Amino acid sequence: MKDFIHFFGTTGNKDIFFKKIRSPGGLYLSVDETNIIIDPGVNTFYKYIHTYEDKIDGIILSHIHIDHSNDLNILVEFMTNGGQTKQGTLLVPNQAIEDKVLYDYVKDFPKQLNRIKPNTSYKIKNIEITSSIEHKHGVETYGFQIKTKNHNIGLVTDTAYFPELLNSYQGCELLIMNVPYYIQDKPKPKHLDIPATEEFIKIIKPEKLILTHFNSNILNSNPILLASKLSQKYGIDVIAAEDDMILNL
Ligand SMILES: [Zn+2]
Repeated sequence: MKDFIHFFGTTGNKDIFFKKIRSPGGLYLSVDETNIIIDPGVNTFYKYIHTYEDKIDGIILSHIHIDHSNDLNILVEFMTNGGQTKQGTLLVPNQAIEDKVLYDYVKDFPKQLNRIKPNTSYKIKNIEITSSIEHKHGVETYGFQIKTKNHNIGLVTDTAYFPELLNSYQGCELLIMNVPYYIQDKPKPKHLDIPATEEFIKIIKPEKLILTHFNSNILNSNPILLASKLSQKYGIDVIAAEDDMILNL
């Protein structure tokens, strides 16, 4: 089977998806015969069942915000045949359990429920997933390194920039980064912008970088143009994600 990542949607911003400018939704990673849904936001379940027939081996949640977690429970039901088959692995921050973002009644459905700890490795079938240090995002949030047979993929989810963050993504040749801002304009930032992205490029030196999770701030500055400017400046492949983009690995 081909290895790929499907970007169901490319925004988490309510203004953008309420106005139907971009779709919300998570990522679907199908690599080394392992199928994982990451951050199942609004629409993820619907898009998944209308596109794929495959069994899901695991679900990863970076944090509880609704643009990441909305379809979590229905996907747990789907992965486990409505709780009839104890299978699959779930990785969630402890807060998702404490705040009942993961419903109590589905908690025991998967074969394994892991409460994510920082800098810790987990296995979903053939894939190794290592959590980052805790991100700074106002709620308990983790990014991930995903190690496959041929790739080392960094998923840099929502966070303010701080230099220690970079240690968690060393060695990644592919970075997928949530960058809603061209220039962060909030006094207490909770997200990344293009100058922060440049710090990642300089230190991590990825071969390829995907920008996603756009809000109006970066969309007004044309992310495709920003991506091509970064490509030229640093001599790496930078892509601005589109809804339903398939990235072949
Ligand atoms: Zn968030």
